[in-house]
Amino acid sequence: MTKWTPSSWRDKPAKHIPTDYPDVAELSDVETTLKGYPPLVFAGEARRLKQRLGQVAMGKSFLLQGGDCAESFKEFHPDNLRDMFRVMMQMAVVLTYGAGQPVVKVGRIAGQFGKPRSSPVEVRDGVELPSYRGDNINGMEFSPESRIPDPQRLLKAYGQSAATMNLLRAFATGGYANLRNIHQWTLGYVDGSPQTKKYKELCEKIEEALNFMEACGVTPESTPQMSATDYYTSHEGLLLGYEEAMTRIDSTTGRWYDTSAHMLWIGNRTRQLDHAHVEFMRGIENPIAMKIGEGLEPDELMKLLDVLNPENEAGKITLIARYGHDKVAQHLPTLARAIKRAGRHVVWSCDPMHGNTIKTDSGYKTRPFDNIMTEVSRFMQVLHSEGCWPGGVHFEMTGQNVTECLGGSARAVREEDLSSRYHTHCDPRLNADQALELAFLIAEELGS
Ligand code: PEP
Ligand code: MN
Repeated sequence: MTKWTPSSWRDKPAKHIPTDYPDVAELSDVETTLKGYPPLVFAGEARRLKQRLGQVAMGKSFLLQGGDCAESFKEFHPDNLRDMFRVMMQMAVVLTYGAGQPVVKVGRIAGQFGKPRSSPVEVRDGVELPSYRGDNINGMEFSPESRIPDPQRLLKAYGQSAATMNLLRAFATGGYANLRNIHQWTLGYVDGSPQTKKYKELCEKIEEALNFMEACGVTPESTPQMSATDYYTSHEGLLLGYEEAMTRIDSTTGRWYDTSAHMLWIGNRTRQLDHAHVEFMRGIENPIAMKIGEGLEPDELMKLLDVLNPENEAGKITLIARYGHDKVAQHLPTLARAIKRAGRHVVWSCDPMHGNTIKTDSGYKTRPFDNIMTEVSRFMQVLHSEGCWPGGVHFEMTGQNVTECLGGSARAVREEDLSSRYHTHCDPRLNADQALELAFLIAEELGS
């Protein structure tokens, strides 16, 4: 294999990285500027996440990964970040209680901007323009100017990621995540829903346990796990120029870390063995995830693991299966068997979003809640019967009261409701109520 450097991906074919910047010199200047900017995460934190994922790979922990399909400049607001953080905390409480295991919390956040698109162009009323590719590349507005890639957007995305990271760290360690605050994580607009009622009942049980522990002398003040939490960041490592600029040598180990996020993933459309994304990811020490879907044969998966995780380190690789509720049971068993037979350590996670996207007659991209839950259940059944641990879930979700995915039992979103609060910049997200309902359903499956 040729020598890896942070820029060795540049000699390989690359999909979904824009090549139509009007001024390449400007892009290169921006990348140089980014190289001088502070890291967003520390290598030691990425190592800690890898350790925690190692526990998931061993069946001793559960991974909850979630957030927007695409972060946007427009939706950037402290309240949105707080609400997203709160829903994930609520889900983690439900899952920890149900599964009786620690939950590793990873946001699709603080860098999740660039998108691979199924078509390079978008046609509206006979007008054809380049597709929107994420706020760090071009603008969502349907006009020729807005769709031109602009390198300055990378700097804006870095700034937003830094501010986001700063607030997330404050939420995680500044007192907000203290278990004594579990009641306060409930979002106002879901108050009164059956999920919130169930959640409140759970909080009461936890509070009783906390009171008992406190009487025994174990307090949040004396126990960091009770007064703070670990919250990690992740995004699809799509724009390799940005990732390269954020990749630095860790002074403790002398190894390369991509400091743009704790964990990076390779998308389903960019995981070709001999292409740029796999080349870049093989050289960094961060935990890596890879989306896997239809068409990936066991043989190729093994080769990818040889390249991405030659030492078979537990926690290094998370495989995120995204088949669709009607396909997962057909495709996953052969891969699970091959991995098990080869003694490969991986975290198995389920993305029940991307294989269950449909378009309504009125033109909205949506996902039915029942299909999402069905895929998670089937994923779990397959892995259990293959003797593997269904270690995690990967959701597109938000703390906002959106109407993007259909269904849910509490305030079921109907097809005619989609238009009322459809705000996503890319794919449809679960709202807080739907996300919490899923957490309860998954907790039941894990606990049974
Ligand atoms: C995504 O996670 O938003 C995405 C594009 O997923 P996939 O690579 O699985 O299609
Ligand atoms: Mn998506």
